[in-house]
Parts: sequence; structure tokens; C-alpha cells
Amino acid sequence: MHELSVTQSLLDLALEQAALHDAQKITRMDVVVGRLQGLVEDSVRFYFEILADETPAQGAEVRIEMLPAMASCRECDSQFELEEMNWVCPNCGARTLEIISGRELYLKSIEVD
Ligand SMILES: [Zn+2]
Repeated sequence: MHELSVTQSLLDLALEQAALHDAQKITRMDVVVGRLQGLVEDSVRFYFEILADETPAQGAEVRIEMLPAMASCRECDSQFELEEMNWVCPNCGARTLEIISGRELYLKSIEVD
């Protein structure tokens, strides 16, 4: 139930921000998620609808921006997108990879009324 706790914390954060700005209603939430989080978008939306019920975020549009999993090779310095869990450099075959993106998970912005 990774999505449940993630959705709850994103919602908490959005509600906190809305309260700080005296907003009555949240109309949109922009969320950024890296592929390595393994989040299922549909599950996030499903939990959001349940969790946001009867809060100022009820009915808000949830936009999820998925970022690719990118890695760089320590041997040859090439950068590439990680395909599935194939942790081998496509350029030189080395396995000494460094993740440069794909672990993101944050609330980018909210729109309020
Ligand atoms: Zn390489």
C-alpha cells in the first residue's frame, strides 16, 4: 500500500499549504513522481478520491508528471534512461551506474480558490 501513504502525505501537504493561504478549496494539485518510485498513477487517483472526501481538496484535479529514470555511467560518463531494471551501461557494459533522476516525489504546486 505504498500509494496510500504517499497519497496521504501529498494531500496533507496540500491541505497545509491551502490553510496557510486561507484558501477554501483546492482545485488542482501538481505532483512530480520519478519512475523509480514505482507508483501506479491510477492507484494514487483512487486513494486521492477517498482521502480527499470532505476536505478542501475534494474534487481537485490531480496532475501527475512522471519523470524518467535516468542514470549515468561511472566508467564512460554516458547518460541514458534506465530500461526496466537493466542496470548495465548500454555504451560500455559497466555495472557501476549512478542514478541521476527517477526518485523524485513531491508536490510541485497547488491551485486554490
Ligand atoms: Zn559506460
